[in-house]
Amino acid sequence: MNFVLHGHAVSTGITVGYAHLVSTARLEVAHYEVAEDRVEAEVKRFDAAMRTAQDELYELKTQIAADAPAEFGAFLDLHRMILNDSALSQVPRELIRSRRANAEWALVQQMERLSERFDEIDDPYLRERKADVQQAVERVLKAMMGGADTSKSLAEAGATEEQKLIVVAHDLSPADMILFKRHRYGGFVTDVGGVTSHTAIVARSLGIPALVGLHHAHRTISEGELLIVDGVQGLLVVNPDAAVLAEYRGRQTQLKAERQRLKLLKKTPAATLDGTPIELFANIELPQDTPEAIEAGAEGVGLFRTEFLFLNRKDLPSEDEQFEAYRQVVQAMQGRPVVLRTLDVGADKAMDGGDGSHNMPNPAMGLRAIRYCLAEPQIFLTQLRAILRASHYGKVRILLPMLAHVHEIEQTLVLIATARQQLDERKLPYDKAVEIGGMIEIPAAALALPIFMRRLNFLSIGTNDLIQYTLAIDRTDDAVAHLYDPLHPAVLTLVANTIQTATRGGVPVAVCGEMAGDLKLTRLLLGLGLRNFSMHPSQLLLIKERILRTRLADVQTMAQRILRTTDPAKTRDLLTELNT
Ligand code: PEP
Ligand code: MG
Repeated sequence: MNFVLHGHAVSTGITVGYAHLVSTARLEVAHYEVAEDRVEAEVKRFDAAMRTAQDELYELKTQIAADAPAEFGAFLDLHRMILNDSALSQVPRELIRSRRANAEWALVQQMERLSERFDEIDDPYLRERKADVQQAVERVLKAMMGGADTSKSLAEAGATEEQKLIVVAHDLSPADMILFKRHRYGGFVTDVGGVTSHTAIVARSLGIPALVGLHHAHRTISEGELLIVDGVQGLLVVNPDAAVLAEYRGRQTQLKAERQRLKLLKKTPAATLDGTPIELFANIELPQDTPEAIEAGAEGVGLFRTEFLFLNRKDLPSEDEQFEAYRQVVQAMQGRPVVLRTLDVGADKAMDGGDGSHNMPNPAMGLRAIRYCLAEPQIFLTQLRAILRASHYGKVRILLPMLAHVHEIEQTLVLIATARQQLDERKLPYDKAVEIGGMIEIPAAALALPIFMRRLNFLSIGTNDLIQYTLAIDRTDDAVAHLYDPLHPAVLTLVANTIQTATRGGVPVAVCGEMAGDLKLTRLLLGLGLRNFSMHPSQLLLIKERILRTRLADVQTMAQRILRTTDPAKTRDLLTELNT
């Protein structure tokens, strides 16, 4: 059957590919005791489900088209190997017998034990295979529960299509998402999630089409079904017919040509038509994102979300490990500035090792970011030393997230002094003039800006959190995603005032939230006085093109009119006018 699901596009572009259902959320199954005389039947039920899962994987393998990406076959083989291993094929049988437990529970118990062992592996590639174990187990569970038939439709869908895999999940955490960076998936779609959740941000940084908030995708789509992810209109087309496919193929070709054209701008300096230079920086999550930032012509890294080094592991990265990661980025940027944001864990970026955010009543307002770091000074000091050491190899700036109180800056400055002293004692070099900046992402900081400015060398406006906290909407919750509005007068006033006050006070100010990479808002931000934008690299050339076509004198008056407007419909009309 062919049908369309509507969601929110978090990453533009169009992908045609095949559904790959994943669930990395804890697999919750019932636990019950099996009557003594039913134990052997339960073992048989387990064996039958294992066989079904194996058969499905075998079937899927035989149906892969010749031009399918190598990963498709490789992951099917890997899942078959995992299911063949006695750790999964035998141990749960023993658990069923010894504990008289139901088969689902025995399997998940064993999976969790294995997952813990994977967490202890040093090699990051092997450690990440935990996700494959979970996915293989999920296939068996589906078979036990009479789940969808996953063996059909690859061939039915037509072997001539470009074979890409599209991840279909109910939910993905930012930590899950970062694992997917290693695979070359064609797209991502999830049932839940807001457009500025960290999951969406990482999806966007992959530069492939992604949709969130589809509500029923994971339940209604089967493995291997043909999908079109339309990241331009926020649509997911399931089992498209030939005419729709042809139409989308045409649009894909157009988009590809567009991207090629933009590449020509890589070396063109970003400046408005009246010659005002604009700095365009890149946001990155991991050192391996740096080449993409360079490829997009970024003049620096404006936001390195260092917390991603801390996810998907039980231990903490050591000072040396962090130093190597930071140095790698700093050296790759060859003297261009790198803004390293200190650990912003908590809320949706929960550390496995226990930042406690799982248990917090309201993690977004809890012990997150700078609050967590100040509560854990040894962890913070380790990171500060690693950052300072990396500063010896290029131009490093330190950025503090989630500032709400001036004493948070003061305490941090004391810790930075301590970190310096410790490095001096170890005779390790660092840049003595490293600049310290603060994120303006809590309304309190925006409203009391002068007292923060006095203590900081630069500011960066985190519009994602600024909007979340100003409008009191959880950025990860798709039930309130429609209320997430960068054009709300309160948000615009805070952003405009921050830019104006900082500029007048001679303190450099950037925007590093998603607003900076939103083409609709480029002229508005320019008109409000912004001269430094930091965004995911995939947006950079598009934004540059818009800047090159903008005359500041033309947009300043209109930006002020938008700022004064209180009628949302009028705001949108004026914005359309500004962008035409
Ligand atoms: C922001 O809040 O706008 C920001 C850039 O930081 P993050 O999205 O990582 O919270
Ligand atoms: Mg933030």
